[in-house]
Amino acid sequence: MTRRTKRWLVAIPIALALLVALFARTFSAAPLPPVPPYAGPTPSATPPAGMRVVHLPTGIIPRNAAIAYRGGAFSDKRDFTMSALLVKHPRGDVLIDTGFGRGIDAQFASMPWFFRAGSKLHKGRPAADQLAAAGYDAKNLRAILLTHAHWDHVSGIPDFPDVPVWITAEERRFIADGGTITDIARSIPTARYVDYAFEQGPYLGFPRSYDVHGDGSIVVVPAPGHTPGSVIVFVHLPTGQRLALVGDLAWQREGILEREERPWLTRTAVDHDPAGVRDNLLRMNALAARYPDLLILPAHDARPFAQLPPL
Ligand SMILES: [Zn+2]
Repeated sequence: MTRRTKRWLVAIPIALALLVALFARTFSAAPLPPVPPYAGPTPSATPPAGMRVVHLPTGIIPRNAAIAYRGGAFSDKRDFTMSALLVKHPRGDVLIDTGFGRGIDAQFASMPWFFRAGSKLHKGRPAADQLAAAGYDAKNLRAILLTHAHWDHVSGIPDFPDVPVWITAEERRFIADGGTITDIARSIPTARYVDYAFEQGPYLGFPRSYDVHGDGSIVVVPAPGHTPGSVIVFVHLPTGQRLALVGDLAWQREGILEREERPWLTRTAVDHDPAGVRDNLLRMNALAARYPDLLILPAHDARPFAQLPPL
C-alpha cells in the first residue's frame, strides 16, 4: 500500500464523520433571537352567542419531535394529527382545512415514493362523513378556509362539492405552479377557489387582516413562508376563549413557544421561504408571551386540538 493510499484511507472516514456530525448539528436546539411580548392593542370582538367550534380529526401520521423543531428528540414520538375545524356561526359556518378526505388512498398513492416510504398513514373518518352522520345540514357551510394548499389540508375538499374554497391570490398562484406538493389542490376545479383579500388593517402584530363576519370572531392574517399564501386564522369565541390556527407555520407548538424553526432537512424540503417562517414564528411567540391563554393550534399538533370539543 502506498503512502498516498494510506492517507486516503484515513482522510475519507474523518471527512464522513465530520459530515455526519455537521448534519446531526442541524437538529440541535438553536432558538431564534428573543422578541419582546406583543405590545399593540387587543382587538375587540363581538362573537354571537350561537358560535362554537367543533374539532374533526380525520387521521394521523406518526412522526417525531426531531423533524418538527430544532431541539426535538427522535425518541419523542408524536402523532401528527390531520384535522379540520368547523366554526359554527349564525351568519354561515366555516370549515378551516379539511384533513384527510374520502379519496385519501388514491391521493396518497399519487405522492412521490420517497414521501410515501417515510409516512405511515393512519386513516380516521373523513370530516364530511362525521358531519353527515351527525345530521349536519351542509347548507350551513358557507366556505372552506385553507391555512394553505398542501395535500394533507386539501384532501377532503372534493367531499364538499358545492362549497367555495377561500384562498389568497398568492396561494392560488402557488397551487398553479407548486409542483407535486400541490397536485391534489390543482386537481380541484379552479372555479371552486374564491380569492379574498386582506382589506382590514393591522391585527395582533400582523400587517393586514380579513374579518370574515365583520364581528371579529374569525380574523385571517397573512403569514407567508411555509407557502407563499399561508395564513393564520384567529377565532374569538363567545366564551372569551381565543384560538390561533397557524397551519404549518410550526408542526408542533414548541416551534413557536421555544422559537425553534424546523431542522434544515425538513425546512429545506417543505418551506417555500424559511425567512418568512422565522418572522411569523417570532410574531406568534410575541403573542404567546402577551396572551398566555391564547390556544395556539399548529395544524399537526394533537395536544391543543385535544382541548377542543369533538362533534
Ligand atoms: Zn404544509
